[in-house]
Amino acid sequence: MRGKDVLLEKVEITYPNGFTAVHETDLTVRAGEFFSILGPSGCGKTTILRAVSGFVEPSGGAVRIGGQDQRGLAPNARPTALIFQNLALFPMMPVWENVAFGLEARGVSKRERQARATELLNLVALGDQADKKPGELSGGQRQRVAIARALAVDPAVLLLDEPLSALDLKLRQHMRAELRSIQQKTGVTFIYITHDQGEALTMSDRIAVMNAGRIEQVGTGDEIYARPRTAFAASFVGESNQFPGRVSAQEGQMAWIETAHGRFLGRNIADLQEGDAAILFVRPEVMRVADGRNRLKARLERRDLEGAFINIFLRSQTGAELAMSMPNTGMIGFDTSDVDVGFSAEQALVLPEGPLAKTGREELAAE
Ligand code: ADP
Ligand code: MG
Repeated sequence: MRGKDVLLEKVEITYPNGFTAVHETDLTVRAGEFFSILGPSGCGKTTILRAVSGFVEPSGGAVRIGGQDQRGLAPNARPTALIFQNLALFPMMPVWENVAFGLEARGVSKRERQARATELLNLVALGDQADKKPGELSGGQRQRVAIARALAVDPAVLLLDEPLSALDLKLRQHMRAELRSIQQKTGVTFIYITHDQGEALTMSDRIAVMNAGRIEQVGTGDEIYARPRTAFAASFVGESNQFPGRVSAQEGQMAWIETAHGRFLGRNIADLQEGDAAILFVRPEVMRVADGRNRLKARLERRDLEGAFINIFLRSQTGAELAMSMPNTGMIGFDTSDVDVGFSAEQALVLPEGPLAKTGREELAAE
């Protein structure tokens, strides 16, 4: 097996009802890469996968796989295979036949099918389960059968559409490591779609952050977490304190921002100018008690013990809730009083004002 690169060149996808689900997009997924597309429900992730797999034809632009324009090629003529959360295994067939199913239609002999199924079941660590029925396996094992089945037809690109979302948390976390290891063993290009930032950050070589039909940023997990380029990426990936305001002055690579909480300095990576509407983003783990050049007064309100670290919630004088987290060194006292909190300017980002991701609470309310 060998991965191929996937190129989207100015791809735009408008559905027959006139709705444009994906605006003009350029994207390069490298051969053999574990690439994730991360974004909230409805942002267009599945639509992009449909265009790569051939179930939807872009209304503009081109999809190239391994350099080859895929226009007009039916899904089964493309070097791709697709896995969704709904596995559709055949319940009456033993596991190995499920895996080899696609090969029978291609005229492969039973002996060869069996050999290929054994090889793939070994790859997904199910070598000893070949004769069981899918119903006798756990959820995670069934997921691995589906992956083995998708790999049986020797795809260069495996497309995975939120494949873990039906599994419980423990299993989901275990499967992250399994998927990553299967991808590395095969060298097949994985394009993995998810709304779960934890999945994207732990498994991927690179991630595309997507919102409202557009890819806002592409980078490694580290890059996207430490240097989000848009308000959406900063608020969707990880937690952050947000201070909206206006840029009042530039200072080298930094900018001062005037907010309801005071005047703060942060990194000005978007080169904002005086007067520009902006939001200052500060991660809870870089907030400190009485520290730094950037300071504000707040009242300690609540403390959540997470085990290895502690989340502390504060109320600013303007009434905003602020989050701060710190390692649980057993040294942290807590009384509800006013404190000075602060953060280093190097670890604060001044970004252009823009749409923010919904918080978990808002997501639940919308459901
Ligand atoms: P995601 O996978 O990120 O949740 P989708 O790609 O499924 O998002 O959908 C993106 C947008 O396109 C949504 O607003 C959805 O309602 C719309 N959409 C999806 N399929 C169709 C379709 N067949 N016709 C019209 N609109 C669609
Ligand atoms: Mg989807």
